[in-house]
Amino acid sequence: MCRYIFVTGGVVSSLGKGVCAASIAALLQARGYRINLKKLDPYLNVDPGTMSPYQHGEVFVTSDGVEADLDLGYYERFTDIPASKHDTITSGKIYERLIGKERAGVYLGGTVQIIPHLTNLINDFIRFGENKVDFIICEIGGTVGDIEALPYLEAIRQIKYILGSTNTLCIHLTLLPYIATARELKTKPTQHSVKELRSIGIQPDLIICRSDREIPDALLDKIALACSVPKHSVVAAVDQKTIYHVPLSYYKQNVEKQIITYFGLRHTDKINLDKWHLIERRIMAHEKNVRVAIVGKYNQLQDAYKSLSEAFLHAGIHYKCKVHLIWINADEIGNQLYKKLDAVDGIMIPGGFGIRGIEGKIKAIAYARKNKIPLFGICLGMQLMAIEFARNVLGIKDASSTEFTNDCANVIDLMINWYNGEKKETRTRRSNLGGTMRLGNYESFLINGSKIKEIYKLESIVERHRHRFEFNINYKDVFEKAGMGIGGVSANGILVEAIELNEHPWFIGVQFHPEYTSRPFRPHPLFVSFIGTLIAQNKTFHL
Ligand code: GLN
Repeated sequence: MCRYIFVTGGVVSSLGKGVCAASIAALLQARGYRINLKKLDPYLNVDPGTMSPYQHGEVFVTSDGVEADLDLGYYERFTDIPASKHDTITSGKIYERLIGKERAGVYLGGTVQIIPHLTNLINDFIRFGENKVDFIICEIGGTVGDIEALPYLEAIRQIKYILGSTNTLCIHLTLLPYIATARELKTKPTQHSVKELRSIGIQPDLIICRSDREIPDALLDKIALACSVPKHSVVAAVDQKTIYHVPLSYYKQNVEKQIITYFGLRHTDKINLDKWHLIERRIMAHEKNVRVAIVGKYNQLQDAYKSLSEAFLHAGIHYKCKVHLIWINADEIGNQLYKKLDAVDGIMIPGGFGIRGIEGKIKAIAYARKNKIPLFGICLGMQLMAIEFARNVLGIKDASSTEFTNDCANVIDLMINWYNGEKKETRTRRSNLGGTMRLGNYESFLINGSKIKEIYKLESIVERHRHRFEFNINYKDVFEKAGMGIGGVSANGILVEAIELNEHPWFIGVQFHPEYTSRPFRPHPLFVSFIGTLIAQNKTFHL
C-alpha cells in the first residue's frame, strides 16, 4: 500500500523544497523502500519549456522527452530514478486537460468547477502509479498563500481526508530569517505560514526550518508549541556546504525514522548510506582545484545552468577536486573576455537559444581552438563550434545557423524531418514553440577511432536532447578533411551528434545534454574526461 508525503513551502520561495523532497526520498530509498517523486507547479504555462531561464531557472528534460521543472533534476540526481511525464504537472496542463474534457462533452452538461473537477484531475495525477511504490512524495511549487496553489492544497486536503492521516504526511518547509540588529532568528513568519496552511485545512506533521545558522533548541520548542507539532518533528535544516550533505543531516535528526514511525511501518536499523558517506568524505577532502569558464548568457541566475554546474561538481567529487566555475557573460566581447579566458583551465559553452551572445561565444571558441585551451560545447555550444570552424578554418565567412538568420551558409540548419523510432516527425518554421523540439532520449552511434568513443568506451549511447537545429550533414566531408571529426551520428546516420578537433587536447562538442544524466555517485564520462584533462594540465592558480 502506498503512502503519501506532501511537501509545501512557506515564507519565501527558493528554500530548496526540491532538495528537501529528494533528500527524504533518498533516505527512504536507503531503507529499501520504493519511491516516486512528483512535482506540481501552480503556474499557468503548460510546461516550463517556453519560459525564460531568468524566470524559472533551467528547463530539465526527462528521458521520455518532457520539458520539466528543474526540481526533477534533483530528484534524479538524489535517487537515480529517471523521472517521466507522469511526475510533472502544471496548472496550465491540468486546465488544458479539464477544458479538453469539457469540450468533448465528458461532463454531460454539468457545471465544470475547480472543486471537484479540477481537484479530481489533480488527485488522479498524484495517485497515478500508486500500486508500484511504497511512497509517493509530492512537492507543491510556490509558497503557501499563492492564489494559484489553492486547488493543489485542496487536493492534498482531500487525499488526506480520503486516505486518512495514517497514510498521508504533510511536510512544511519554512525559513527562520536572521535579524542582524536583534541578533536573533525569527519564528513568526513560520507561525504565520503554518496558520495560512491550517486555514485551508492542512495541519503540517513535520516542519523543516531552513536557517543560515544553528537554531537554538528553545526556538524549535517554540515552533512546536505554536504550530501543534511534536518537538521532535521540528527539524533544523541549517545551510550545508553542498546539497549532497542534506540527506545525512536529515538522517542525523531521524527524519526518515520519524516518517516510518508516523506511518506505523516496522523499522529496522538497516539503512545503506554508504554512497552518501563517500560523497561527503570526498567533498571534504578536496586536494585539487581547477577553473572552468562558463560562457553563457543567463549568468545572473545560476539556476539557469543547474544540471551543468552539478555535473561539474560530480566530476570534481570523482577527482577530489574543487571545480571553480567562472561565469562569463557572452555579450562581453573584446580584450576583457580574453583576459578572463587566460585565467582558466578550460571553457564550457552551454546550450541556449536565440542570437544574443553568440558572437561572444564564437570568439571564446576561436580563442580556445587557437590557444589549445580545452573546450566543451553542449548543444548550442556544439553548433557554434561548427560555425566558428566553418568561418575561421574553412573560410566560409557567412557560416551561421538558420536559427539566427536565413541569409547565411547554413552550416547549422532546421531539420525538417527526423525519425523517433519508426515514427517520422515533421517540423516547419511555423511549428508551435512549445514541445516541438527533438526532445528526450535518442540513440547515437559513436564513430570508430573518435575521441568521444574512447571516452565512453561504447559502440552506441543514449542521451537526452533538446534542440530544433542540426549540423548540416552536407558539410561533413569538408569538416573532416580540415581536421574537425564527426564523433557520433544518429541511428539513420544523418544527424550529427558530436564533433571534435583532432589536433587539440580536448575540443569536443555534443548535440545532446550529458549534464542531465550526471549523478553525484556516477559522474558523466564526458565531464570526468574534461575535468581529468584540466587537472592533468597542472596549471597553478592563486585561488
Ligand atoms: N538553439 C539550438 C537549437 O534549437 C540549441 C538548443 C540548445 O542548446 N538546447 O537547436
